[in-house]
Amino acid sequence: MTHVIGIDLGTTNCCVAVVEGVRPVVLSNRAGYATTPSVIAVAEDGTRLVGQLAVRQAVTNPRHTVHASKRLIGRSFDAPQVQHAVQRSAFEIVEGPQGDVRIMLRGRAYSIPELSAMLLQEMRLVAEDRLGGPIERAVVTVPAYFNDNQRQAVRDAGKIAGLEIVRILNEPTAAALAYGFDRQENRTLAVFDLGGGTFDVSIVHVGPESGFDVVATTGDSYLGGEDFDDRIVAWLLERVREQHGADLRTLPTALQRLREAAQKAKNELSDVTETDISLPFLATMEDGAPVHLEVELSRSWLEQMTGDLVTRSLQICERALRLAELRVEDIDEVILVGGMTRMPAIQRAVSEFFEREPCRGVHPDEVVALGAALSGFQSLSDGRSGLLPLRDVTAHSLGIMVAGGRFEPLIAANTTVPTRTSSVFATSRDGQETVKIIVLQGEHELAAENEFLGQFAMTGLRPAPAGETEVEVMFEIDTDGLFRVAAIDRETGEARQIQVLAQSGITPDEIAQMMQESAAYLAQRRQEEQDERSRQGIEVALAEFDRILPEAEARLERTTIAPAALTQARMTAERVRQVAREGNPGALEAEVSQLRVITDTLRRTLG
Ligand code: AMP
Repeated sequence: MTHVIGIDLGTTNCCVAVVEGVRPVVLSNRAGYATTPSVIAVAEDGTRLVGQLAVRQAVTNPRHTVHASKRLIGRSFDAPQVQHAVQRSAFEIVEGPQGDVRIMLRGRAYSIPELSAMLLQEMRLVAEDRLGGPIERAVVTVPAYFNDNQRQAVRDAGKIAGLEIVRILNEPTAAALAYGFDRQENRTLAVFDLGGGTFDVSIVHVGPESGFDVVATTGDSYLGGEDFDDRIVAWLLERVREQHGADLRTLPTALQRLREAAQKAKNELSDVTETDISLPFLATMEDGAPVHLEVELSRSWLEQMTGDLVTRSLQICERALRLAELRVEDIDEVILVGGMTRMPAIQRAVSEFFEREPCRGVHPDEVVALGAALSGFQSLSDGRSGLLPLRDVTAHSLGIMVAGGRFEPLIAANTTVPTRTSSVFATSRDGQETVKIIVLQGEHELAAENEFLGQFAMTGLRPAPAGETEVEVMFEIDTDGLFRVAAIDRETGEARQIQVLAQSGITPDEIAQMMQESAAYLAQRRQEEQDERSRQGIEVALAEFDRILPEAEARLERTTIAPAALTQARMTAERVRQVAREGNPGALEAEVSQLRVITDTLRRTLG
């Protein structure tokens, strides 16, 4: 059975799900958790650590432990958000060869798609472990407000991981799918999705006949739990300065401990109204005196420190309603997605804004992966899944730069996809033989203020007076959200089609190299997982044999068991024990099944 898994590639946590039978289910990791931390580290000996293992060593290895890398994906190094992260991160963020972002781990620069690929790979391994076979295809979710560069970077991550990305699905849309797939009424949903790093609001119509229609989506791809944590960290740094006169901003270990304590306190304050933050031996002063921090943080103070972030999220909700041309009364159900929506201040603000209690019964950490799994299942079953059709929208306007450095949108924000459109542009100079087409995404009337997606040139035009030669530019977004641009010389009919592949910042050669490394890593991990399964099988087989052996020996005379057979069985068990100790469990398949047969026979004979 081939599966298409659904992966929620979150800023703080990742989650993987699959449709089993007719329902989507979350696949938990070896440790039994439904989510895996989006944390990657490289240990001193070069070992790669992902998830909980990386979290566990973060305080002792802060320079080489990366968290929240999704906040940097598809951005250029000079972007204000990246510079913001550069100042606050314990790990080193550097500029890549294409002006992109790289992170230094043990002397090697890793691109963000490469790090994201490691997370995808980890989630694939979780799924393979649970489903017992190789997984090659996945639906991966992204924030709805991600632009094309960010989406492209996630696609590259999938490619590096050697996973076929069947679809890139918007996170709030995935949540709506999971909410609505077994409901029978017409409803208008507002999905409020505040995760670790990003914020989206989508308004979605769901109907038993019409399917899922996203009517508006908007957000902020740099607003999330990390910003709440930052506020607490800044407050803690200030307390340390007050109490000890010490500035810890440049000490990675102290910063990492502060960050972890801040996040823990924030999470706790969703359940209690006060919490203690106790961080002994945070640092050492110049005179050798230790810096201890002992403070109490109240829920009300946390709410004061972060009130503006909550307000920002509500302003975005207003924008979503405006875009959907709906009023608050038109919303039937509010769905909360993302770990941050557990914060009481957010729940209160959302309830007041939408004038209703949000829907319970949707798991904020799992619903996105469940929706992605449904979408994967749908892709697999060729329209026969019984799932309703889905129409999403594009969150940003797409267009090109025209004379005067202005931006001319060709596809407006909130247009339903798939869509295509075209526009005719005339040359602006006499004898012009080349037209350069610069493709941008955003809402600003000045081209330079929007996101640059790529450029291409239409060359070899017939020299003619200005305005006489016309070039038709066509934009297309397909159902997978993939965006293409083509241009036609109207005179010759000659077409130039390009896929606007821009700014993930890694070259095809680099991707090929990363794919190779990733494939080697996957093979090694699969082998390790296989060995682990064999080891566990051996342990169980030996334990069962050991349990039955004393009884078999005691009752040997009164049974039909031949003494020689028992001696033979003991020797087999001994050999299995020995080879397993030497660490080659895979070599024992035959012996282990022999041992199982013997144990079964003994059990039956002894009754
Ligand atoms: P996600 O990206 O959806 O996994 O969201 C993770 C974010 O939710 C992180 O910033 C967490 O600190 C935050 N979070 C998780 N649990 C809670 C909680 N109980 N209260 C407040 N925030 C939480």
